[in-house]
Order: sequence, then structure tokens, then C-alpha cells
Amino acid sequence: MATDSKKRVFAFEEGDGKNKHLLGGKGANLCEMTQIGLNVPPGFVLSTEACLDFLASPTKDLPPGLWEEVQAQMTALEKKTKKGFGAADEPLLVSVRSGSAMSMPGMMDTILNLGLNATTLKGVIKATGDERFGYDAYRRFIQLFGKIALNVDDAYFDKQFELVKKAAGVKEDVALSASDLKDAAERFLRVVQEQTGRPFPEDPYEQLLIAIKAVFGSWGGKRAVDYRRQFNITPAMANGTAVNICTMVFGNRGDDSGTGVGFTRDPGTGENVLYGEYLVNAQGEDVVAGIRTPKPLTSLKADMPEMAKQLDALRDRLESHYKEVQDFEFTIERNILYCLQTRNGKMNAVAQVRTSVEMEKQGIITKAQALLRVAPESLEQMLFPRLDPKAKVTAVASGLPASPGAASGIAVFDADRAEMLGKEQGFKVILVREETKPEDIHGFFASEGILTSRGGKTSHAAVVARGMGKCCVAGAEGIHVDVDKRIAIVGDTSFKEGDMITLDGTSGKVYLGEIPTVEPEFTDELVTLLTWADEVARIKVMANSDTPVDARRALKYGAVGIGLARTERMFNDPARLPIVIDMIVADTQEERQEALDRLLPLQQKDFKALFEVMSPFPVVIRLLDPPIHEFLPNENTLVREIAELQQLAKNAHGLTALGAAMTLMQASDKVRADVDGLRRQLDPMLVEEVIVKKERMLRKVRSLFETNPMLGHRGVRLGISFPEIYQMQIRAILEAAAECQNEGIEVHPKIKVPQVCTAEELKIVKKWVDAIHDEIKARTGKPVKFQFGTMIEVVRACMRAETLAEQSEFFSFGTNDLTQAAFSFSREDAENKFLPLYTQSEVLQDNPFEVLDEKGVGKLMELAVKWGRSVKPDLLVGICGEHGGHPAAIAFCDKIGLDYVSCSGPRVPVARLAAAHAALLAAKA
Ligand code: PEP
Ligand code: MG
Repeated sequence: MATDSKKRVFAFEEGDGKNKHLLGGKGANLCEMTQIGLNVPPGFVLSTEACLDFLASPTKDLPPGLWEEVQAQMTALEKKTKKGFGAADEPLLVSVRSGSAMSMPGMMDTILNLGLNATTLKGVIKATGDERFGYDAYRRFIQLFGKIALNVDDAYFDKQFELVKKAAGVKEDVALSASDLKDAAERFLRVVQEQTGRPFPEDPYEQLLIAIKAVFGSWGGKRAVDYRRQFNITPAMANGTAVNICTMVFGNRGDDSGTGVGFTRDPGTGENVLYGEYLVNAQGEDVVAGIRTPKPLTSLKADMPEMAKQLDALRDRLESHYKEVQDFEFTIERNILYCLQTRNGKMNAVAQVRTSVEMEKQGIITKAQALLRVAPESLEQMLFPRLDPKAKVTAVASGLPASPGAASGIAVFDADRAEMLGKEQGFKVILVREETKPEDIHGFFASEGILTSRGGKTSHAAVVARGMGKCCVAGAEGIHVDVDKRIAIVGDTSFKEGDMITLDGTSGKVYLGEIPTVEPEFTDELVTLLTWADEVARIKVMANSDTPVDARRALKYGAVGIGLARTERMFNDPARLPIVIDMIVADTQEERQEALDRLLPLQQKDFKALFEVMSPFPVVIRLLDPPIHEFLPNENTLVREIAELQQLAKNAHGLTALGAAMTLMQASDKVRADVDGLRRQLDPMLVEEVIVKKERMLRKVRSLFETNPMLGHRGVRLGISFPEIYQMQIRAILEAAAECQNEGIEVHPKIKVPQVCTAEELKIVKKWVDAIHDEIKARTGKPVKFQFGTMIEVVRACMRAETLAEQSEFFSFGTNDLTQAAFSFSREDAENKFLPLYTQSEVLQDNPFEVLDEKGVGKLMELAVKWGRSVKPDLLVGICGEHGGHPAAIAFCDKIGLDYVSCSGPRVPVARLAAAHAALLAAKA
């Protein structure tokens, strides 16, 4: 009897099909499927609460009363199936499966054929008249139970099984006879005895008890914990696993039986066709483990026409009920089709987008649902590179195109080494295996792509790679993988560990060497979906771009303007860096002005090019921000070069031309270039000249030294110290805009001032802007349309938002600096030093430079928006820090009333969809 009134065990007929937290996704579905009339084998679910009670028990006993509930359900199951658990006649066998609220494919353990022992085995053989089937089921059960519930290493069983196959002289499992399988079962029983020191448990109820505890326990196992950590599955999302106990049905009872997995649509392309694989005369794990290569479901019509018809009907039923693409498992036992489980299909982004658009057009879902079922982050997958079609390459092997995209990396033959070389040492790695198993998961995380020589499109490798958006070629049978020798042999060629290979997961081809890739194109469906997104989104999406090339790409991705053009990136162009350096080392204002006069036309050209590309959208240009020493060489390098030059000058005296040339050849590249660059010979006078120049630069570098440059002489502070620099930039922007206006190109330049903390700073810059504008207007007779505004990236700027708003037409949150300022974490150092520790030990939930800290930084933003708009209700407000491309931050920005987000070009599609999600979810709330 239960000690409390909490019901912990539910028959499929009685469980609430919507309560995934209590019954797990699989359990809730089995209940729902049963209740909508699908042919599900009878069974029941132990709740996740029962799991948590069990895990909390120090003695690791089932919570009081639970076992009695299980026994009562087993009795009911015996009645429904007219079979007996442990009976010599018509024995009842069950599967015991895990299933939590979040789908974690292959992450926890399943036991099949539970209830088999010497007695029930005879009963199964008698009832089915099929001895081979009986022993096959028996040996499978002993191995699974031994591995999962009794912790016996799988390798012991595999070794014995290989011996059985060798003795029988066969390669495929299906070729083994009943007596071979009997031999296997007996060997397996001995393995269990030897490895555990105890006989294999014969009592079915003892088996059941051990199995339930093992499945509950697997929730805390390494594989499951790693998976949850990797995918950020918190206890609020899934806590504990349910246990599903279900009557076994058998797909391995002859040619009128089979098993398979299906998707209601193609998960690789999204095409509206029934998709999947099956095997005749086989059990489910044969398909999942890739032991035999399954047939496509399209062949079922020929093998079993009536079953193919029923499967089509099942597909329609599932989609019309769930309104979502389903990934389901089925078994056919002697011409009866059973649906064993169904869940929402995991698809790559291409398929997710296509099915969204097509299901909306079919009237299955609404536009809002179509948008919401695509995770914004997943769109990045659609921007994955493809192999350059121009690359003339020949594949060495081909397999199934199991997960699209292309990747190059060094071949590595096991998951541990993949982790070591990929994650720890930073190599690009391709994991190459015969087939993969759930315990290889860490190798997936560390790899760019996965190649297997066995298994189908629904093998473990394929499913997991698709979920992660990594490319995968599966079942490349022409490749012989020798894991021990770390080599793969393909016909008369081979590649070994460390050799570079390339996979094309879209075509299934494998290449030797590294092959160039090209940027992907938008699909029509993505264009449609993003158009719908723009229709519902409130917040606009702009891009952070500094060059016409980036700007063009941002436009292609749907940006409606540039929200941040960092002018310092233009200064770093190799052609103009020497001028920038001249400007910095200038000792007098005249010298500086001379350098700036050379920079002006270049900058003007930069800005005009951006305006032309982006017309008629706005372009926000930020005046110079970083400390100017960033453009100068490093102090130690200069000291080293001066010493070398001094030595060179000494050696140069009295040399022949040849001697001079040879001496110069021995100098370091930089010094040789500096000296050579003058007159292509080693002249002591010239070396002296170079030394003088470098010493001057060294003095400048030392005079510009700051202890905390990021909190030092940068941004508007620099602008006010050297007015000529900002004035040159302002002139370049306004002149470029005036030129465009003159040429009939619509432009909306916006001048943005960085690092502002007081309105006085803005007033000073504004005065320069107005003066230069007046001058241009007087000259051209036409005003330039532009806006003036400020970055908000300093805490004081948030606190003084009212006074800043009086001087600005727009605010742009620089949340990179604002995060640094709000936490007092140096963004250059924090991520290498203490932030990993902070996030791992949960001092902080997330790295605030990646995930916007809504409670702190967000609060500052909210106040700044409120106060800014209190004096200027139409103040335009956006964000241009890295957070601007992150869906959660976008939702927050939408909530506090920002007008736009600005993010890197490739994230624009992600941001557009996230903006739509924000609007839709806000409307729902
Ligand atoms: C910011 O601080 O968020 C910002 C956009 O400026 P930067 O990263 O260039 O300092
Ligand atoms: Mg900044």
C-alpha cells in the first residue's frame, strides 16, 4: 500500500497525455496515443516523481507502496493480454524504457524482452512454434539486461557472440540458427555468472525490480548528466525519468513481421513524404544500432502492401492529431501494425523551415505556429558552408547523406581522442567510426562532422549529428574502418589518423584533403518564413558592418540598416595604417592635421560606399573608439627591433655590396623590410634614420601607456583631447552624405559618439558637427539630413539618460562595455580567468558577455529608456553589443521598448525570427 495518496503508476488508458513532467515525453505520448485509438501495445508508466523519490532514498529502495502498485498493474496487464508474467504458457514479456520530459535520444537505457527465463522461454517457443525466435529474444535480453541492469561490460557479450558467429561460419546475425543462438544465450548466462559472481536472475518480478531501479538510476548516470549539461536542460525543464513498461511485440517472427522507424516528413529536406527505414524479421535495436542496413520505407509497398497502406493512414493520423512532424517507431507482428512511440520529429533547420511553411499552406498550422516552431538559433545551420562547386575533386567513398553541411578535419577514430584533439587541442576533427553508440557523445561535441561505415539515416550517428546540426555521412560501406590501427581503407587507398578529410553531408560524399567551401543560399521557404517574421515583428533588425562587402551580405540577410559601423576597423586597413600611425605619432597639431588631411578622402570614400550599398536604409557610424595606442606596434617589439637595427648599423660599416646584402638577408623580416623599403641597400645612414623613427615611435608608445586602457583614453575622451580626429570623421561622413544626396542617392547617416558619460561631452561634439554641417550647407546650398546620437555603454550614461537625451536623437546600447562596466569585469580578462569557474559553479548562471544580464545590465537599460523618453518621447533606441543577435536578449529588448537590434550580418536571420517570436510571445502573455 502506498504510504501517501500520491498516484505514481498510470496505465496507458488513464495517464494525462499532456503531463510530460509527470509521465515523461514518451509515457505521456503512449497514454495519448492509446487514448486516441492507435494500436499501442498495452502498458503503464511509473512517474518521474517516483524516480525522484527513488533517487532521494539513501538505501536506493523503491518508495514505499510503489512496488505494490507495479504488481497490480502487471496483474492488469496479464488480464489485457491474456498472457502470464513468468508463465510457462503464453508468457507475457515487457519492455522497460526510460523517458523524461525532454527528449534525450539514446541518452538513457532501455531493456527489452524482460520476463524471459528458462521456463518462459519454453513457453514462447511453444506459443510461437519458433525456436529460433525464442533463443534470439532470449540472448538479446540477457545481453541488454546484463549490460544495463547488472553493469556487465558489453564487450564480454560481443566477444562471445563473435565466437558463435565464427563457429557457425556466418557474418550476419540473421544467418545464425536456433542452436547457434541457444549457444549464444548459454554463453551469455555464463558471462553474467562470471562477471557478477551470481546467476542470472530467473524470477521475472526480480528482473522487473532490478530493471526499474536501473532505469531510474540512469537519470543520474554520466551520459545523461553530460547530455543535460550540453543542452542546458535544467530541472525546471526535466526532472527525473519516467519508466514505461510496455507489452513486447515482436518484429522478428518471420517475413510477415518487421520493425522500423518513420518520420511523417523527410527530416533531411522537409519534403512532404513518408520517410524512414525498416527491416523485415528484426527487432528495433537492429535499426537503431545500424547492425543491418535497413530498407527505405518506400519498399514496404512491395514487401507488405497492406501494411504500407496502414502506415500511410497512421502517418496522416499522427500529423492531424499532433499538428507537428512526428518521428515514430512501429513494429509489425504477424501482419498487425503496432505504433510503439511517437514524438515531435527532430529536424535540421532546412527541414524545419520547409515543413513550417508547407504545413501552414496545408492549413495544419497557423502562421504564428509556423514561426514559433522554428528555433531562431537553428537558422544558423542554414547558413552553413557548402563545398565549393568549382572545386574539382573526386570522392573516395560515398555513404548516406545523413546530416547536411560540409566539414573538413583530421580523421580521428575514437571519441576520446576526438575530444582530446578537437576540444582540448583545438584541431578540426572528423570522427570516423564503424558505427557510433551513445557513449561516443563527447566525441560528437568535439568534432566538425561524423563519418560511419555502417548504419542508416536513422542510425545513432545520423540522429545525433542532425540534432547538433553537424554534418554526417553514414553507412559509407566502401570504407573499412580499423579502429585499432587507426586507419580507414577505401579500395586501394586509405587515410589514417591525422589525415585531413572532407565530408559533404548533403551528398553523402567523402573526400581526401581539405576542400574549399562557399556560403549557402537562402531557400525559398526561408525567405517566406522570414517575410512572415518581419510582418509580425515589432523590433527592427540592423547589422553591425564596417565594409561594403559585409554590408551587402547583411542586406541579403534582411538587415534594414547598419546599426554600428566601427570606424577603427577602417583605420586598420594596411594601406592606411601608416597614415594613422603618422597621425598618432605627430608631435604638433600641424603634423597631425597633415596626416588627417590624407585620411579624410579615404574615410569619405569608405562612408560613401557604405551609404550607397545601404541606401535607402540608415547607416549609424560610430566615431573613433579604441585607445589610439592600439594602432601602434607593441613596446617590446619596438625595443627588440631598435636593438637589432643598432647592431645592423654597427656591422654595416666597410662592407662590400655583397657583404651588405648578405648581412641584410640575415636580419628579421620586419627590420629587413624597414631598411630595404628605403633604398634596397644597407646604408648605415639609412639604418640610423630608421632607428630615429622607431625611437620616436617608442617614446610615443611609452607616453600613451595606460594601466587600464579600456577604461582610459578612448572614445569621446580621445575625441575631445584630439578634436581634429573627430572633426575629420564628422566631415568625412557629412561630405559623403552630401555627395550621395547630390547624386540622388537616399541616405540616412547617423553620427554616434562612443563612451559618453556626460551631456557636456555630447555638447562639445555636437558643436563641431553643427559647425561642419553649416560649412557644407553654405558651400553646397543644401542641408544634409542626418541624426546625432550616443552610445550608452557607461553606467553613468544610463543614470544621466535624461540629460543625454536632450542632446541626442538616438541611443544605442553598447552592452559589451555596459556589461563590463556594470559588473566591473574586464571583458578582455574575465572570460579567460574566472568566468568559466563562475558559471560552472553557478555563482553566475551564464557568462554575461554572451547572455544579457537582464537583472543588472537589463535594469540599467530599462531605466535609461524610461528616463531618456521622459524628455524625448520619440527617442530612437537600439542595441549594438553582441547581445543584439541573441534571441533571449532580443525578447528582452522588445519588452523594454527598443526600436531596433543590431548584430553581426550572419546573425540577422536569427534575429529577425527572434524578433517575431518576441512579438508573438508578448501578444500571448
Ligand atoms: C559595445 O560596447 O557593446 C559596443 C558595441 O562597442 P565595442 O564592442 O566596439 O566596444
Ligand atoms: Mg563599446
